[in-house]
Amino acid sequence: MSQFLQNNLVAIIVFLLLLIFLLMGSMIFILCKLVLRTKPADFVIDTSTVLADEVLSPLLKIKKHEISLVEKYYCIHHTEAPSVGSCLICEEVFCVDCLVDHESMHFCKEHFRTYANYKWQQITDTRTTPDTPEDGLYIYNFKRDIWLNKNIPSFVMTHYKINIENDYIESFIQLNVRIEDVTKLSLELENYKAQV
Ligand SMILES: [Zn+2]
Ligand SMILES: [Zn+2]
Repeated sequence: MSQFLQNNLVAIIVFLLLLIFLLMGSMIFILCKLVLRTKPADFVIDTSTVLADEVLSPLLKIKKHEISLVEKYYCIHHTEAPSVGSCLICEEVFCVDCLVDHESMHFCKEHFRTYANYKWQQITDTRTTPDTPEDGLYIYNFKRDIWLNKNIPSFVMTHYKINIENDYIESFIQLNVRIEDVTKLSLELENYKAQV
């Protein structure tokens, strides 16, 4: 027997070592499984208790914000059609089928008829520069105001001019109104500007 042990000592040691490695391996495997099984459970408890108010409500807010952005970029008549531009008069966004392109101006179908049915006159030519970009802002606000509150159509055109001497772009904000509104709106716009 001792002769057998002596002859096979190396083989026996290797066998025993393999056995130990195997046992350790399976123990590590079982431990890993246990740890992985408990971790998601802990996480669920966290989100439903501590994290619920602090994390989930801002997430929901972001979601809502994203949804409103998406809505904004789809045609107001066709919710599945991406918008390609906005109408100069109502400022709503429309898909390629709903937007009319006329001499590089865009209108929705309804307001293209408005544009075509009236004679228009430009009542402002307000110059703004990169240093004074807010100078024309009151015109946009006035335009939006008379449309939303009085349903009076008008549209703003911007004319750009490159100032070669100073090397910057000047823009001229041109408000166009129906001929019959010219006197009334010119006066209202002066008052509006004085208030700002
Ligand atoms: Zn429109
Ligand atoms: Zn559309």
